[in-house]
Amino acid sequence: MPKLYIETVGCQMNMLDSELVVASLRKDGYELAANAADADTILFNTCSVRQHAEDKIYSALGRLKNAKREHPDKVIGVLGCMAQKDQDLIFRRAPYVDLVVGPGQLHQVPALVREARTERRQWMEVSLGRTDGSRDEIERSHESFDPLRDPAMRPTPYQAFVRIMIGCDKFCTYCIVPSVRGPEQSRPPAAILAEARQLADEDCLEITLLGQTVNSYRYREGERTWRLSDLIAALHEIEGIARIKFVTNYPKDMTDDLLAAVRDLPKCSKYLHVPVQSGSNAVLKRMKRGYTVEEYREMLARAYDSIPGVAVTSDFIVGFCGETDEEFGETIDLVRDSRLKNSFIFKYSERPGTKGAELYADDVPEDVKRHRNNSLLSLQNKICEEDNEAFFGREVTVLVEGPSKTAEKHGDVGDRLQLTGRTNCDRIVVFEGSRRQIGRFLPVVVYDANAHTLFGEVVTEHVGPEVFSLALPLAAAESQKE
Ligand code: SAM
Ligand code: SF4
Repeated sequence: MPKLYIETVGCQMNMLDSELVVASLRKDGYELAANAADADTILFNTCSVRQHAEDKIYSALGRLKNAKREHPDKVIGVLGCMAQKDQDLIFRRAPYVDLVVGPGQLHQVPALVREARTERRQWMEVSLGRTDGSRDEIERSHESFDPLRDPAMRPTPYQAFVRIMIGCDKFCTYCIVPSVRGPEQSRPPAAILAEARQLADEDCLEITLLGQTVNSYRYREGERTWRLSDLIAALHEIEGIARIKFVTNYPKDMTDDLLAAVRDLPKCSKYLHVPVQSGSNAVLKRMKRGYTVEEYREMLARAYDSIPGVAVTSDFIVGFCGETDEEFGETIDLVRDSRLKNSFIFKYSERPGTKGAELYADDVPEDVKRHRNNSLLSLQNKICEEDNEAFFGREVTVLVEGPSKTAEKHGDVGDRLQLTGRTNCDRIVVFEGSRRQIGRFLPVVVYDANAHTLFGEVVTEHVGPEVFSLALPLAAAESQKE
């Protein structure tokens, strides 16, 4: 059997793309190899959002130079966002690469791998650039990948990503995504519902809907326009699916119908990822985010008011072009006031080809970026710790995902081990349990916490002399408390 090694960098969208590529290559008889040395085909599914992600791939390619010289029949492919962005620059920097395939052409990977095996030349399949044709032509060149699923490639067998949109039309000035992922296109509800039913049939309990601005989802069907709230309501009817999440939200499109859906539909996770990027109006304007800090604060207040116990997370970019100490101070103020469950903080990385790179100088020194990153992180961690303390003594419902990182490191093989899972508001919980509890919903009482983890004990019930764990049946997930 031919062997495939695939390495994935970047976001959940890339993890999903890799799952689909692996599923399609398995149909061609491939099985997965644990490392590049054992593989006949080596694929990198890449990210272009920050320079660091690209550097990682170019060094990994550098390390394969000798392997390719010694085994010229190995096929090496670069897939995804960096393939679309750098195109034949990849062949120039690493002439032994066989395939360069953009995110819109991933369905062609099995055929391209076959061709690369028989005909020794380089193959490049990418989409049109954002100014290389009519909107219609550009959209068609970013074909959505036909969903062949592969349970073995998911975060866990019980959790799966489902793409509901591709591309992005927001053109934030720092961001490369609209150029590499193409125009924003929503998938038809029927295709999404069919995919979710298939996942439920494969015993998947939790689906996470993916889109760059997932709450901008709109699909016209005759007279009717489907919004994200309509889609979630339809997915909620699918038997077997017990938890529904969606990422990433755009602040301006956080409409009341969506907040009401999250509040009223019990399978909907009480969790919203809504990146604000900066707490300064001047910076938001340079970023062309399309909202003010006041509007973000209003959206946040609406979310907290309408959904009891909702957890909100955000992304921040520090050190964006021209960011002053005062402007960064406003971000600190916003984080202090917002009581976010978590913040993902990134140092600005200039991306050639974006409006930001064209219009503004990347003028905040690296050490200032690092310092701002660390101060924001330590403030957020302090808030996380304080908010998690509020969980002491509370019972939460956890979907058990598998062994905790510690159990994995120790190579625990017995039945009793440390497990990890998430609450309905996406908090990580670690507790001791049995392997049989993986993939179930369990009631857990929290007795300790740090900034990012709650520690608990499975709620047990005394029956006669024994003590046993009470696992909730699936239906009970619908009344998840937390
Ligand atoms: N579509 C999502 C949104 O609008 O928030 C996120 C897309 S991006 C893959 C994920 C995060 O990376 C962004 O929210 C932003 O914080 C960060 N990011 C994007 N471009 C960046 C850049 N040039 N430098 C640093 N961080 C960046
Ligand atoms: Fe990038 Fe902005 Fe689109 Fe998000 S909304 S993918 S940050 S351009």
